[in-house]
Amino acid sequence: MIQHKKITIDSNHLYLLPMSIEAGGGYLLIDTGPNSKNAIKLIQEYLKQNNIRTEEIKKILITHAHADHAGLGSYWSQFDIDFFGGAPDMSAYTAGDKWKTINTKKTMNQLIKNGLSKNTINEWLMGHEGQFLNQWEPMPWNKIKPVVGGHIFPLMNNRSLEVIACPGHTPGSIAGYIKEDGYLYSGDTILNGKIPSTGMHFSSISSEKKWNGNLHFRNSINQLMQKDIRHIFPGHGDTIKEPIATMNYYRNHYDRFENKIISLLSTEQLNINQITKLLYKQFVNFTAANAIQTTIKVIGIMDKLTEEKRVRQIENKYTI
Ligand SMILES: [Zn+2]
Repeated sequence: MIQHKKITIDSNHLYLLPMSIEAGGGYLLIDTGPNSKNAIKLIQEYLKQNNIRTEEIKKILITHAHADHAGLGSYWSQFDIDFFGGAPDMSAYTAGDKWKTINTKKTMNQLIKNGLSKNTINEWLMGHEGQFLNQWEPMPWNKIKPVVGGHIFPLMNNRSLEVIACPGHTPGSIAGYIKEDGYLYSGDTILNGKIPSTGMHFSSISSEKKWNGNLHFRNSINQLMQKDIRHIFPGHGDTIKEPIATMNYYRNHYDRFENKIISLLSTEQLNINQITKLLYKQFVNFTAANAIQTTIKVIGIMDKLTEEKRVRQIENKYTI
């Protein structure tokens, strides 16, 4: 079995995995830590207490391009460390906040197009001021290498960590799998008792074309269900000891939504805003953040159903 060390900073878990001597020894770190002021201090304290020198951290595998997982990338990049991240998230890693600002702007345009009011959008943006300022420093291009599924990191005790591409939560989300132990380091792809958001992403930084996050997420879960996974170590929350039950819960959750939507559309044509309000009876009382989150979720499900040809879009309305 592999013995990892877990570092918890705020709500984030980072995992230190001992690498094989043949591969140079030292540690592989999963995720950089969140971009909070306190995080660097807490990490340094943890390393000191556990007699680990910073120089022993040789590689960092980043599960996805969100500031709480990748935010300390620029801090770690002053050391002699190789970074690895899912290939489709590379522009986010190397542009940081700038990427986030552009993606948010395109997302808000989509939401307005789908019937959310400018007031709701502005209310949300006001509450998130500062979130876009100097919070997530980009990483230098030459420090981070793109990885795709199948990439192997040799570990101690004849173990290896295999990268599994899990597009969904972000386009470049990845997980690390140790087959022999049935361990999965899932980032935010699988969380205990919580379904991660697939957000809204676009096919490239310069494109307005939406990326089908919900469809990819469902495929990623189906793919993970084929593996022999016995323990999941997520980026937040408790370790998952019943991976199959959790993944079935995800599956059933979305299947229920899809069935409900199909049945609504069997009697009338509806747009995104109407569908969202029928699915969420309390929608009119939602906070701006909740209204945005649920609308994004419904758009994602409708994009999947459209792609699968289970619904058709006529102008801004859907029908079966
Ligand atoms: Zn995330």
